[in-house]
Amino acid sequence: MANKRDYYETLGIPRNATDAEIKKAYRRLAMKYHPDRNTGDANAEEKFKEAKEAYDILSDDRKRTAYDQFGHAGVDPRAGVGPGGAGGFGPGGFGDIFDSVFGDIFGGGVGRGGVRQRVFRGADLRYDLDLTLEDAVAGTTIKIRVPKLIACHECHGSGAKKGSAPVNCPTCNGQGQVRMQQGIFSLQQTCPQCRGKGKIIKDPCGVCRGQGRVRETRTVSVKIPPGVDVGDRIRLTGEGEAGENGGPPGDLYVHVNVLEHPIFKRDGTDLHCDVPISFTTATLGGELELPTLDGRIKLKIPPETQSGKLFRLRGKGVRSVRVSTKGDLLCRVMVETPVNLTRQQKDLLREFDRSVNEDGRQHNPQALSWLDGVKKFFEGMTH
Ligand SMILES: [Zn+2]
Ligand SMILES: [Zn+2]
Repeated sequence: MANKRDYYETLGIPRNATDAEIKKAYRRLAMKYHPDRNTGDANAEEKFKEAKEAYDILSDDRKRTAYDQFGHAGVDPRAGVGPGGAGGFGPGGFGDIFDSVFGDIFGGGVGRGGVRQRVFRGADLRYDLDLTLEDAVAGTTIKIRVPKLIACHECHGSGAKKGSAPVNCPTCNGQGQVRMQQGIFSLQQTCPQCRGKGKIIKDPCGVCRGQGRVRETRTVSVKIPPGVDVGDRIRLTGEGEAGENGGPPGDLYVHVNVLEHPIFKRDGTDLHCDVPISFTTATLGGELELPTLDGRIKLKIPPETQSGKLFRLRGKGVRSVRVSTKGDLLCRVMVETPVNLTRQQKDLLREFDRSVNEDGRQHNPQALSWLDGVKKFFEGMTH
């Protein structure tokens, strides 16, 4: 150990170097002496290992403190000293160094041999939104309150106390993965200490208790495009829960539900409604004023209109969010039976009835065809 170079000297940095300076120095050396660029060069390989070892110690606050106090004796990786006892060069030999260096250089992306530090995308959220038919058809902007996990304000999502930072996990050297030797097989497993994150928090943030995320209700503005209907989803990218370990946030999906309207029922781009008309209007004809979603319109009722007749008003329906042409408004008229008649009015009706029975003309077309059907039905049964 006596001939071992000082770690700070190895990396070419002062003793009070910051974490960022340590990392930067290490990256520069690792790139320079990387075995891929120095095939067969034993000196480069040695320098590479030296830089790696120095970095492993100095990038870990606890090991660095021990090294500053006791020198190499405090942190000899081969002696298994230090948290977890698995820092430094594992039994896997050169391959392990190789992987962890790549993991470091490329910021936790895919390393050689498929090693990856796990980042966790935040969860997607679902919000069920009730809209009136008018709002669904015309479009609107609605503010909703969404309870969700957001990045902690205090630690900006790192989970570490202000002024400190998460450090590389000593068990997996920041890889998030550990190698297990089973017979001739070398298996990779998610690191049990950091659960794949590659980082551990020694001094947790007091606000989020080291979670990096806190639950909060956020007001989100949702733009509802005109024409949305029941079952449509509006995606708000990045408005889901905050990610973990540098992962991206999830999305917020607003599921549209349209409330029942007192007059109209929607079917795609068509609107349906039932319109009650009086016995007199149905008989003599007339004009009705109808409400639509964009103003009032007139509906002409021709004389001798039967109950249940459907009137189609072209282009008076709605647009869907996908189709730009407007549908139709379909009005079904229902002839109402008059109620609360006075004795005089009832007498008039009886007189009216006598009159229509005595003039020898046909006044009830549906009853006639119905009776005809009944007759044919009974005839069919007797054969
Ligand atoms: Zn926090
Ligand atoms: Zn770990």
